Amino acid sequence: MTITKVPSPNYSEGRMNYTPIAIVVHIMEGSLEGTDSWFSSTISKVSAHYGIGKNGDVHQYVDEANTAWHAGRVNAPSWSLIKPASNVMYINPNLYTLGIEHEGKEDTDWTDEMYQSSSSMIKQLSSKWNIPLDRNHIIGHHEIYSLKTCPGNKVDLNKLIALASGAPVQPVASNNPLKILQIGNATSIVRLNIRQSPNRNQPAVSTKDTGMRLAYDGFTTQGESVNGNSKWFYTTEGNWFWSGGVK
Ligand SMILES: [Zn+2]
Repeated sequence: MTITKVPSPNYSEGRMNYTPIAIVVHIMEGSLEGTDSWFSSTISKVSAHYGIGKNGDVHQYVDEANTAWHAGRVNAPSWSLIKPASNVMYINPNLYTLGIEHEGKEDTDWTDEMYQSSSSMIKQLSSKWNIPLDRNHIIGHHEIYSLKTCPGNKVDLNKLIALASGAPVQPVASNNPLKILQIGNATSIVRLNIRQSPNRNQPAVSTKDTGMRLAYDGFTTQGESVNGNSKWFYTTEGNWFWSGGVK
């Protein structure tokens, strides 16, 4: 893989004794060229470790050992491995993550070249930093900062992970899951994300606090497997929530 260095001044030296445990996937909402210049400017105060172009080009902005400024804000995080500092605060996720930006906008399709380069990069970072290739460790930016859709509505994170693992890429079965009608109620036992489909590929539509009573019309066992559990409930509104988050 050819990596073009485009050093950004926007980073913190070192990682305050943290090491990267996860890779955050971003979308640029623009071009690779535009991102190069935005990250090169001290005015932007943002960066990422890498940027991947639609044609597969790879640019490096920040050394992996340093803290890039890509996911420092936290809002209603759904990421299971987020590190709290107290009841209301979080350790800055930039300290323990690597960030990869991708050319395009939230609703533009990802090219094969971008999937190939990104998954090669993820594979490389995974083996170098001992980061497992799964959805707890390869995450979308919105899972840390829920007010953004980043990395958008088109990227299939499970496909990226499968490509990086060298596994055959399965079509996402959960796009058209077998629904079983069974009306009932459940109570959330975690802050629960309500989603448009039975997987975590897209941003949550809303989040329910712990202890909320939720009505459902039925379920599928063909949703995304989270901690080995692929059962998801669907609601009258056509939304979904994971059965592991309720009792
Ligand atoms: Zn982002």
